[in-house]
Amino acid sequence: MSSEEILQEVAVEVSTCSRCKLCKGRTKAVPGEGSPTAKIMFIGEGPGYHEDKQARPFVGPAGQFLDELLASIKLKRSDVFITNVVKCRPPSNRDPERDEMVACNDYLDRQIAAIRPQVIVTLGRFSMSKFFGSERISAIHGRARRKDGYLCIAMYHPAAGLHDPSKKDVIRQDFKKIPLIIAEVERRAALRAAEQPAQTIVPTSPQQREQEPPQQLSLF
Ligand code: URA
Ligand code: SF4
Repeated sequence: MSSEEILQEVAVEVSTCSRCKLCKGRTKAVPGEGSPTAKIMFIGEGPGYHEDKQARPFVGPAGQFLDELLASIKLKRSDVFITNVVKCRPPSNRDPERDEMVACNDYLDRQIAAIRPQVIVTLGRFSMSKFFGSERISAIHGRARRKDGYLCIAMYHPAAGLHDPSKKDVIRQDFKKIPLIIAEVERRAALRAAEQPAQTIVPTSPQQREQEPPQQLSLF
């Protein structure tokens, strides 16, 4: 199946899913949207009021700020993929609960595996915890780290910026690092390809693994 077909399959399943209690209160499930070949994937928390009505992620006030942030690095929504850790709106926008995130996780994992993005940006603490455990956002925001085979960057949730202008600036600055990080990933991949053409056809040896980028990209 192509990545587009896998994303479509996930969206169809999500639309009628009853794996957790959030199915009871939803108007429409919000599978996520964007390019099946996106280099960047954004993962938020869960649908809010507007998202639940429209079946689209980040279309309320936080979504407007996200659009502005994307535009600041010359990207459109259709260039990236945007989704959430839970696909149905928690009642009164409460935090998603652990059992709900666990129930919904398989959809997110299938979306990530289909897209295989160069960079995963977590928005807020719930998607952050999937990749960064219990680390603190104030300590790690805006830094690229390899986790589960993906390069991940934790960022504050755009909604946090709506209430606090100083956070808004931090989020803007963190966003500006995304193109630099992608350029660095591509530069390293090109270097590896030029230096070791055989690497693409032989199994990875321990020596080659040692040459892979360190856990934390020193640049950022
Ligand atoms: N907040 C989120 O985390 N996700 C959305 O889709 C909208 C608002
Ligand atoms: Fe299913 Fe996820 Fe919606 Fe729960 S939140 S009902 S697991 S799609």
